[in-house]
Amino acid sequence: MDNCIFCKIVSGAIPSKKAYEDEDLIAFHDINPAAPVHVLIVPREHIPTLADSDQKHQALLGKMMLLAPKLAEELGAGYQSSTDGPAGGFKALFNTGPDGGQEVYHLHLHVMGGPRPWRGQR
Ligand code: 5GP
Ligand code: ZN
Repeated sequence: MDNCIFCKIVSGAIPSKKAYEDEDLIAFHDINPAAPVHVLIVPREHIPTLADSDQKHQALLGKMMLLAPKLAEELGAGYQSSTDGPAGGFKALFNTGPDGGQEVYHLHLHVMGGPRPWRGQR
């Protein structure tokens, strides 16, 4: 898609700080992070929104979801469950359409997490 900023990031025309890439997906750090760790998992194929995906994207969507905890772990935002209780973790989010807060109309999965030392101080 000619005017799509994420297609340009996928093609390398616009630079990004990559966290992962394979034949189907790339992941890069959000330019305006909303959390200590904030990456976007993006399919190379231009699909505008989650609502535009269909049965043929089932494996691709599954791959995106399975990559989220792996990348979070690599970037220091992994979820741990231990006898002391749960720790760490992240949000995984698809904004969809104007009412969903979507600004870039190329499908992407936000992965947001990481240590929040300011928590529990108030
Ligand atoms: P949306 O609101 O569409 O779910 O999220 C779009 C996200 O893309 C925003 O969090 C925004 O900061 C990020 N973003 C927009 N343009 C760029 C860019 O050129 N580079 C990077 N790395 N992130 C971008
Ligand atoms: Zn695109």
